[in-house]
Amino acid sequence: MELFCQKCGRRFRPGELRYQVKMEIISAFDGYLPESDQDIDLELNRLIEALTYQDPEEAAKDVAQSIFLVICRSCRNRLVREYDTGHGQRVVH
Ligand SMILES: [Zn+2]
Repeated sequence: MELFCQKCGRRFRPGELRYQVKMEIISAFDGYLPESDQDIDLELNRLIEALTYQDPEEAAKDVAQSIFLVICRSCRNRLVREYDTGHGQRVVH
């Protein structure tokens, strides 16, 4: 079976080093709830309605989604350079 880097698309040579990447994208909450001018019942109804019409699978992805990739060494190095900045530091592209 031929394997390709899922980031750059390059074909792996037999025995070539590969890297697995697991990304977890989880919604973050800063504790702030906007105050609504509207009646709270109206606001609740609006939220319930929005949830009712949203595909449950899509709604779950909004909260947490895992992505698995197999990438080559040069893509791995680029990824580390881009994102391994320590906590809270800004990643600039
Ligand atoms: Zn690659």
